[in-house]
Amino acid sequence: MNFSYAQAPMVVDQHIYRKAFQEYLRKGTPIMWSIKQERPTTHYIWRTRRDGKVRSAHAEREGQIFSWDDPPEGGHPGEDYNCRCTAEPYFPEISEYIELSTDGIGTKSGWDNNDFVDHYFNGRGRGVTLSEIGHSRKIIEAFIDLRGEAIKQQIARAARTSRSGNVSYSFVNTYDMTGVVFAIGDTTIGGSFSGQSDEINGVLTIKGNLDFYLNDEFADPLDIGVEVDDYRPSSVVHDIGHGLSEIGEAIGSIGETLYENVHKPLDDYLRERAGLKQLVRKHSRTGRDGVPYPITGEWSGNLKGQIYADPARSQY
Ligand SMILES: [Zn+2]
Repeated sequence: MNFSYAQAPMVVDQHIYRKAFQEYLRKGTPIMWSIKQERPTTHYIWRTRRDGKVRSAHAEREGQIFSWDDPPEGGHPGEDYNCRCTAEPYFPEISEYIELSTDGIGTKSGWDNNDFVDHYFNGRGRGVTLSEIGHSRKIIEAFIDLRGEAIKQQIARAARTSRSGNVSYSFVNTYDMTGVVFAIGDTTIGGSFSGQSDEINGVLTIKGNLDFYLNDEFADPLDIGVEVDDYRPSSVVHDIGHGLSEIGEAIGSIGETLYENVHKPLDDYLRERAGLKQLVRKHSRTGRDGVPYPITGEWSGNLKGQIYADPARSQY
């Protein structure tokens, strides 16, 4: 076992010292040994002097683990007459883990691209939730892939600060979720952890709940790029194709590149730059103007784990 006394939390108070001094007077037990036998852990490893003078009953106990609450026959190390044995604080070997699970992430099938664009034109800006659009699972799983390990590390750090007691940790950031779900791009995701940590024998047991939230906005379906081709049922793409030449005239020149010919005019067109507002109206045959709408989500999760309190010993 890799252990040095320097790592053990050691509290030497007057009472302990007095007791050690009495033991020294009574049995000649060196004072520091006695103090070390005070109890930084609930269990200890019995250590003998490993020489020919160790009584056989104690030699059998070498390396065995005992509880301070349950002394073996004859007492704890150093308590029996002339016993030179010592108690080494016991820090168990554990398999560290932190598990993060999420719930409330339904399985219903999600909006397709048309649904998002359709809502832009017909939803009058009404906000939608992740569960309404049916993409909770994809988004949450992508977020956990992206940030799950970092969140575990942060909660482990908070638990080390707390040792035994309440643990809380909160976070918020903007994440690029492009490519996970159509219409979800740079997205704000935040959350908080609230739980407890208990330290026993150098091991922290952590438990608690997580709440997450997401904020995004579906602002401009045609700004997203190629996905607009998926919006076949509408006349939007068609209209814009027709609008382009007039946009070119309005701007005064048509560039050479695809960007200059298509992307930039589209962008200007849709953003109503360059005074093209009337063109938009004129060529929007369906008469629909899009309205940006918020996409929000909330979900929760659980976290539990067991880690070494000593960060040098821990993978977290
Ligand atoms: Zn002994």
